[in-house]
Amino acid sequence: MPQDETTATEQRHRHREPPYQPRPEQMKLWPEISGNDINGLGDRDARRPRVIFWRRPSESITHGQVQEFFWSTARNPPVVDAAWERRLQTLALPMPDVAPRKTERTPGEWAELVKKAALDGEADDVGICAYKEEWTYDDRPVPKLKWAIVFAVSHDYDTLKKAPHETTYAEVIDQYTRSARVSKHVTTWIRNQGWEAEAKTGPLAEDILMIPTAIAAGLGELGKHGSMIHRKFGANFRLSVTLTDLPLVPDQPGVFGANLFCESCQVCVNECPPDAIFPTRQWVRGEPKWYVDFDRCLPYFIENQTCGICLAACPWSRPGVAQNLARKMARRLKKVAGETEAG
Ligand code: SF4
Ligand code: SF4
Repeated sequence: MPQDETTATEQRHRHREPPYQPRPEQMKLWPEISGNDINGLGDRDARRPRVIFWRRPSESITHGQVQEFFWSTARNPPVVDAAWERRLQTLALPMPDVAPRKTERTPGEWAELVKKAALDGEADDVGICAYKEEWTYDDRPVPKLKWAIVFAVSHDYDTLKKAPHETTYAEVIDQYTRSARVSKHVTTWIRNQGWEAEAKTGPLAEDILMIPTAIAAGLGELGKHGSMIHRKFGANFRLSVTLTDLPLVPDQPGVFGANLFCESCQVCVNECPPDAIFPTRQWVRGEPKWYVDFDRCLPYFIENQTCGICLAACPWSRPGVAQNLARKMARRLKKVAGETEAG
């Protein structure tokens, strides 16, 4: 249950006024509907997610004029343009058709081999889960492939912590590109064994949500800043996914205390310039969870061409810190579990 049973609207009113105000020329392009309503903030009933941003063409989304404002006001310095060019080249790399003959192995053997293929390539971590329909945008068909293999690649922390800055922007695009190379590499590897596989890459929203998929695959826990916290990289990473019908064995969701830690930490809440991060869990599409106010975060992101201040400020993101925090939180988790059992 959420810690606070007041409604989202009451919480917004109680929350302090944002010190940052977006420019009127951007705000006049915003639609009447709140992005938080599209995301299902305050909804007690479960439903599939609705696409809201980062989808081409802009005419296909409610916030299309805002997206066009972002693209048209981009003052990309050469370092960012070069990063986008590397990304386009990676996405254009061809992948083979599925080989006509299937190689047969046990699910356990395949899981081991597929993880080795990812880690021998450029992945920094990999996990597996059964794909769930509820992670698919409601305007797209649910993928037929049963398994999701999720890859994490870490950022250079010193570059991330300059956010918002052009080198951070370039670093983010470059890590999306690296994660795309991982996904395409593993997808190619699986197709060569005779099994179906599809690569899913960011940052544009295509058909699936990556964060809940990554959490189910054991890569981390949801943080108050709305991103996942990885047990080693904190929020300092990007994701990609390969969906496949290769028989696999799922990993278990990994609970190491990040979600619990967020209950007594306010670092990202205090660091966010537009005051977009809710301090307590909110109901979102039938689930109580940490949530970031879309209508406050996005204007700041757009006017700065990027953000990620919350990701860099998160204590779990500082190199070497996450593993120590996870050790400390293991003791707290044990205590909480003991108290729950005692009654
Ligand atoms: S990305 Fe920036 S604006 Fe958005 S929640 Fe994080 S710190 Fe706030
Ligand atoms: S900064 Fe603190 S509250 Fe925010 S996500 Fe990180 S640990 Fe959680």
